[in-house]
Amino acid sequence: MAGLVAGARARELRAEPRVVEKGDRPGGSMLLSSGVIWRHRTLDDFRGECPDGDPALQARIVGELDDALDWLESLGIEPSMRETGNPLTVGRRYDPHELTRVLVRAAGDVRLGQAFADARIVATGGFGARLAREQRLLLRAAPWSEGDGIDYGVARGAALTAGMDEYYGRALPGPVREADFVGTSQLYARHALVLDGEGRALPEPAWHESDLVQRFPAGRAWYVLDARALRQPVRERTVADLVEAARAAGGDIRPAEELPFALPNSSKLVEPPFLAVRVYAGVTHTIGGLRIDERARVLDAAGAPVPDLFAAGADAGGIFTGGYGSGLAAALVFGRVAAETALA
Ligand SMILES: Cc1cc2nc3c(=O)[nH]c(=O)nc-3n(C[C@H](O)[C@H](O)[C@H](O)COP(=O)(O)OP(=O)(O)OC[C@H]3O[C@@H](n4cnc5c(N)ncnc54)[C@H](O)[C@@H]3O)c2cc1C
Repeated sequence: MAGLVAGARARELRAEPRVVEKGDRPGGSMLLSSGVIWRHRTLDDFRGECPDGDPALQARIVGELDDALDWLESLGIEPSMRETGNPLTVGRRYDPHELTRVLVRAAGDVRLGQAFADARIVATGGFGARLAREQRLLLRAAPWSEGDGIDYGVARGAALTAGMDEYYGRALPGPVREADFVGTSQLYARHALVLDGEGRALPEPAWHESDLVQRFPAGRAWYVLDARALRQPVRERTVADLVEAARAAGGDIRPAEELPFALPNSSKLVEPPFLAVRVYAGVTHTIGGLRIDERARVLDAAGAPVPDLFAAGADAGGIFTGGYGSGLAAALVFGRVAAETALA
């Protein structure tokens, strides 16, 4: 997303940008996303959720996202919803295919199937594909983000942020098709007893559950549910709907008596029958990356800008460290900022 946004903004500023896309289609992970571009309500909330992130970068997102969304809509897209449905956040929802189409049109010269050689703005989506492969986790994202932009920045003298081992994770029932990344995500750990492979309980998750997924031992866990839990709502569906989606995708769903260990006592298991769902950590995007300042300038270890190099999207780290936030919001805000600074 960030590369297309930077291209669109640069073009609006009368430059002639060229956006180079390694994949065979534009849009990266944005195209696969739920399209909810959101922010925490206040900077204090953002600090509380992502305590190790850079406050200056977080402040730009809180301060500028609403204007950036208006700008996005000025390119010719309407939101499908003007709220997120989550009282902790504010934002808007867009159809990701429409988002991609509108941004490609606005960016103009978008070349597919080419890895970049030289770039002023790097926006290659972090290194989720590499992290997933190295840690033997599932990838829940477009397959091309191998850290090319980050490697390029480091070769030019850039510093990395903290949190290089952190990622935004979702529990999946197994390897699923891209089209099922959203629909099969098992987002109900708060209603489940979450156990490791030996039957030991894992800690309770935060509301977004990304923290818990990162703690799955060897990238896997069991979600054990009672009949009550199955009736709980999760956004516009129920836990039972999500379990059915897992089953339809070939997931391992079994009566809890068939687990290879005895169930511990838990206040979460009250109303039988009890059902167990095998879940695997899916990497959506990485959180650490190139160190940037609030003008999207890539910085070296001394905090000085690397000459003429800017980064946006998941290539830029230090925004969500220690927590969870909207990768689309970061890509939108800093994609615009990167183009503006590069042309200033
Ligand atoms: C299933 C799913 C649901 C999601 N839902 C949401 C949501 O609702 N809200 C939200 O905020 N976030 C969501 N996200 C996360 C969001 O999609 C990402 O945070 C966002 O797309 C990151 O933007 P980006 O520009 O950094 O990366 P991308 O959008 O992935 O774009 C990076 C692009 O760089 C390309 N690239 C990689 N290497 C090279 C190279 N060497 N040369 C040229 N091009 C290269 C990639 O192919 C890709 O097209 C979701 C993600 C997924 C997968």
